[in-house]
Amino acid sequence: MRIPFGKPLIGKEEKAAVSDVLESPILVHGPKAKQFEDAFADYTKAPYAVSVSSCTAGMHLIYFALGLGPGDEVIVPAQTHVATAHAVELTGAKAVFVDVDLATGNIDIGRIESAISPRTKAIAVVHYLGVPVDMVPVSTLAKRHKLFLLEDCALAPGAWLDGTHAGLHGDAGVFSFYPVKHLTTAEGGMIILKDAELAERLRKLKAFGVNRSHGERSTPGMYDVLALGFNYRMSEIHAAIGVEQMKKLPAFLDSRRENHERLAAGIQDLLGVTVIPQPVNDRFRSSHYCLGMLLDQEIADKRPEVIEALGARGIGTSIYYPQPVPRMEYYKEKYGYNVEEFRNAAAISDCIIALPVGPHLSADDIDFVIASIVEVWSELNV
Ligand SMILES: *Cc1c(COP(=O)(O)O)cnc(C)c1O
Repeated sequence: MRIPFGKPLIGKEEKAAVSDVLESPILVHGPKAKQFEDAFADYTKAPYAVSVSSCTAGMHLIYFALGLGPGDEVIVPAQTHVATAHAVELTGAKAVFVDVDLATGNIDIGRIESAISPRTKAIAVVHYLGVPVDMVPVSTLAKRHKLFLLEDCALAPGAWLDGTHAGLHGDAGVFSFYPVKHLTTAEGGMIILKDAELAERLRKLKAFGVNRSHGERSTPGMYDVLALGFNYRMSEIHAAIGVEQMKKLPAFLDSRRENHERLAAGIQDLLGVTVIPQPVNDRFRSSHYCLGMLLDQEIADKRPEVIEALGARGIGTSIYYPQPVPRMEYYKEKYGYNVEEFRNAAAISDCIIALPVGPHLSADDIDFVIASIVEVWSELNV
């Protein structure tokens, strides 16, 4: 692929940092995870940041810490990565799906309240493709019903609402550092939050529930276990990559914004295409994960040909996300699937082509993508 959909940008700085860790005696429980947490907290202005082994692990850890289990429910948008729902279901609780708004791909706020039941314990929102959810009405709802509000921020580093970073509007935000995301540690995640007591509990539970971390032990190897917990820590090797990536994040985000604006301007007048998420207003600052090219229903059946024709020109695309989660086999089997309930989530899954805007692309690359799409449109007669 001349232009892959996503490409981690690992430079000599990351390689040197990893090499330094490998030459040190400390591969876990060292200074790098703390340094990465501090850098992430500094950038987002989060009171607390807790590193974890992935976004999925972080979300599961939070629900586990809240004591969620069978009989409990969590509201989850239907258009998201399966991880948002799996993190709930892993505790034995039930993911209750809500359809999304077609213009942003974010949870349809007007439909949340009717999905709340006496069993509801939390609301999860996803900042889909980087335009933040309007957290003001969602927070009001969560407070009124005394529900925990979790933000799945996997695609939201650099997404701000009313000057506050995504993840700090609700009770906790969880980020992903999987390779194609805004910054990477190969695998990894970060939780940001405002509650000191919960942050402390998450730190204990991500490390088996032991009472004393490595550095706090007066006698090496001596500790007690206060609770059931996981091994969801981030290693020093992963964290060392993260520390270097954080230094590059502002430049990565600038590049994403410029690429996104250029690409949107180049294709938004094409017949049969809507660019999503649509810009809202200046309260919302997007992290520009990718550009969603939403094909009108009339031409949606040409999607495989468009993807193939772009691939033949060396342009990688993706689909975010391939199915509304409740339509995925596992969830369909478990809860049944009502087509009427998730029309917008399905329209996005079935009609979107996700185009790359990452910092691995130059302005020339973006121009090539635009020219290629225009060419494909005339070839396929759309
Ligand atoms: C990628 C992604 C995840 C999963 O992140 P991992 O770090 O791979 O666990 C969760 N939620 C959303 C919205 C994602 O895009």
